[in-house]
Amino acid sequence: MLWVAIIGLVMTVVAVAVAGRRALFLFKLATVGPPAPERIQYAKDNAGAEIKTQLVEVLGQKKLLKWTPSGVAHFFVMWAFFILLTVYIEAYGAIIQGAITGRPNFHIPLIGQWPVLGFLQDFIAVACLLGLVAFAVIRLRESPAKLGRGSRFSGSHLGGAWLVLFMIFNIIWTLFLARGAAAANGNLPYSSGAFVSIPLGQVLPASGLLEEIALLLHIGFMLVFLIIVVNSKHLHIFTAPLNVLFSRRPDGMGAVPEMRVDGKPVDFEDEDLDPERLGRGKIGDTTWKGFLDFYSCTECGRCQSQCPAWNTDKPLSPKMLILDQRDHAFAVAPYLMAAANGGNGHEDTDVLALLNKPLVGEEGVIHPDVLWSCTNCGACVEQCPVDIEHIDHIIDMRRYQVMVESSFPSEAGVMVKNLENKGNPWGMSEMKRADWIAELDFEVELVEEKMPEDAEYLFWVGCAGALEDRAKKTTKAVAELLHIAGVKFAVLGPMEACTGDPARRLGMEYLFNMLAQQNIETLNEAGVKKIVATCPHCFNTLANEYPQLGGMFEVVHHTQLLAKLVDEGKLTPITPIEEKITYHDPCFLGRHNKVYSQPRDIMSKVPGVQTQEMHRHKDRGFCCGAGGARMWMEERIGKRINTERVDEALTTDPDTVSTACPFCMVMLGDAINEKKNSGEAKESLEVVDVAQLLIKSVKTPV
Ligand code: SF4
Ligand code: SF4
Repeated sequence: MLWVAIIGLVMTVVAVAVAGRRALFLFKLATVGPPAPERIQYAKDNAGAEIKTQLVEVLGQKKLLKWTPSGVAHFFVMWAFFILLTVYIEAYGAIIQGAITGRPNFHIPLIGQWPVLGFLQDFIAVACLLGLVAFAVIRLRESPAKLGRGSRFSGSHLGGAWLVLFMIFNIIWTLFLARGAAAANGNLPYSSGAFVSIPLGQVLPASGLLEEIALLLHIGFMLVFLIIVVNSKHLHIFTAPLNVLFSRRPDGMGAVPEMRVDGKPVDFEDEDLDPERLGRGKIGDTTWKGFLDFYSCTECGRCQSQCPAWNTDKPLSPKMLILDQRDHAFAVAPYLMAAANGGNGHEDTDVLALLNKPLVGEEGVIHPDVLWSCTNCGACVEQCPVDIEHIDHIIDMRRYQVMVESSFPSEAGVMVKNLENKGNPWGMSEMKRADWIAELDFEVELVEEKMPEDAEYLFWVGCAGALEDRAKKTTKAVAELLHIAGVKFAVLGPMEACTGDPARRLGMEYLFNMLAQQNIETLNEAGVKKIVATCPHCFNTLANEYPQLGGMFEVVHHTQLLAKLVDEGKLTPITPIEEKITYHDPCFLGRHNKVYSQPRDIMSKVPGVQTQEMHRHKDRGFCCGAGGARMWMEERIGKRINTERVDEALTTDPDTVSTACPFCMVMLGDAINEKKNSGEAKESLEVVDVAQLLIKSVKTPV
């Protein structure tokens, strides 16, 4: 057996050296860009939560299991990697022991003859084989050749995926051959439990040579697989747990991360701030976390399948956004690393052009139409099984385009000017912000420097809620409901300015900072502690982004507060509303902030209401098309996202579409009006906020 041990160990040393060299290359490449100390700090500060996430997401495969067939298949294949490590310990033990004693009957000390381990090894190998069959069936049924753009695998490297399935298959059949041959020779450590290997030993010949060849084949396929893994998308086997560890918690959504230069939050007052270094303009501006995203993408296409832009024929695929950057990074890797080390390997003009290729541009890595199609809806981040943060990539690229290149859709420029000059995207006078109050038949207190002493909440009305006619109905309904429930509140009126959300999502971080600081100062000076907001974008910004600038407030969305008031009996819906209603989840309320149940709870308390879910709802809800500052841009490519959403709503034959966001109201309302004009929707169909439904039911008709 000496020759077997020599061949086995030489193969191992060579393969580990080749894989190690590649791992070193990947590490060096990932660290050419700016640091991301906040990611390490967060993981350190939240070690307990990170361990839980590793257990639930990585070992428990929580996200993958939401996609049942492929999730179950992946669960077993992944666990096979762990459990079959013991088989490899046995295989290496066998070739070494065979060389020393002439008999390869090694067993792992203490547990190595335990029938349960023998059973587990055989079980997981069989489950892995079945998993491979399931993967193959899924890939054939959902192949791009069959489904075209509708396939989640469209754009993925298909050949590489089949190669990996084939390699895992080779590992499993050689495992059974080696164990069966060992059983035939009396060398298998288990006398029971190994329910496949032991019977196999009874049909295989008792041949030492067969056992030796099978062992070498089993080890050899694993080593080739290792080299393929570190050179392919299957690198995620090693990088995914790291990517999950360093992703933003709880789920990479909610707040946009602070803008950083060299790992430090940007201070716009700093005179030494280099304006050319804002955001990400070239691949070399990517932090190691960005590279970890590139290395972790499994090309599964779950993100793509959920993306509203992709689903309405726009060029944006969140998967390709990551893969195109990754492919470019690999293409320029040697020059990037040489440049990072102060080398001069990039004097050649062609190389220099490649190295300085803009990340975004007509000739760039990412086409501007891709970048500007994103609504920041979070569907991609929500679905990604390895916690890739697509929105962070998009926002950082937008920051560079807007603040360094001044290149963004011209229509959005009007919104930016209006925010700068008037503090709202429509450019209306701030004095109009309190006009809605005059339409009520009770007093609403305005904050005059300080919050009134008896006011529990500051009602953050938002620009749409104060200035847009449809959204004003929600504002008045909420004010009235709070009044009926006896909840004391006050509003800022003309002192309120836009939270800065559209500016930030556009990439105009400077303007966001200005507006946010102004609002935080107003709120702090007024002594505000608790805020209720009707707009999910305001809610998200106030609750999740203002803390980055020191604004610490307790913020609730109106649906959360109203659901609580209904629960406490302070609001009692009594008047029946005999309507079929389908609820549209606003992305910044649902996916970004996990408020799914309260709007539904409110509707369920209204007598007569029959609710029916759309096919895509809750965490798989489909965007209305307004987020990510898209509200302020023209939608010129593909089908309109709001039309797609309303088409889906119409499949439930609703009397009313309800929602909980002023932007969704506008977008869905516009699409419904078009449908009415074309005769595809009934004239009586309307879109309302759940607060409007509630007030209608709480108030008894006179
Ligand atoms: S955030 Fe939404 S629109 Fe943007 S890439 Fe992800 S899924 Fe697509
Ligand atoms: S980004 Fe995530 S969801 Fe999208 S293809 Fe890659 S691994 Fe899959």
